Amino acid sequence: MKVLLATNNAHKADEIRNALDLPGWEFVTLREAGVDSDPAEDADSFTGNARIKAWAAHEVSGGMPVLADDSGLEVDALDGAPGVRSARFAGEDADDAANNALLLSRLEGVPDAQRQARFVCTLVFVGEEGNEVCATGSVEGRIGHEAQGAGGFGYDPLFFPDEFGGAVSFAEVPQDEKSAISHRGCALRELKKSLEEVYNLPMQ
Ligand code: IMP
Repeated sequence: MKVLLATNNAHKADEIRNALDLPGWEFVTLREAGVDSDPAEDADSFTGNARIKAWAAHEVSGGMPVLADDSGLEVDALDGAPGVRSARFAGEDADDAANNALLLSRLEGVPDAQRQARFVCTLVFVGEEGNEVCATGSVEGRIGHEAQGAGGFGYDPLFFPDEFGGAVSFAEVPQDEKSAISHRGCALRELKKSLEEVYNLPMQ
């Protein structure tokens, strides 16, 4: 079965392909499939935005099975911001450096004990018959006082997951170690189990 990934982000596509190695399933990005879909992500939840992306791609592709994701960072001291605005926290065309700089400035003077945060990822699969399968994952950590590490993307250099003891950022570990505990890794493992059940695939 050919499944359309409602993204053109090669990094996400690779991670999804590695995690969802379902027999007979092939995942293609919008660009690879020649599908143009870029709906406004204006919902107030990750699930809402993932559903918008999944259904838009399902419709514009003429009913292909689609997998969409939405993710972001929630910081307790900022009442859950940047949340669904994570990619454009510092403005519509903001890059990772600008978003990270704004996050640090908003948290200036906030002590370690109040820098708790989490990454959240929601995945929405829409099948050929319009059936939906959803999964959500999250990972807890703290926002550091300065960037640490050169790997990863987005807020990784500022995010110190609790499971790594608080001294190592997501930008300092190889992708497989990040995926083992990350919001996207957890959501993908949950989704895989659900798809194996729904589609009667051999459990791996
Ligand atoms: P999305 O492509 O709409 O899901 O955008 C999510 C945004 O949240 C990204 O642009 C990043 O800023 C941030 N984000 C989501 N997942 C991660 C992660 O694993 N590491 C770092 N930043 C992330």
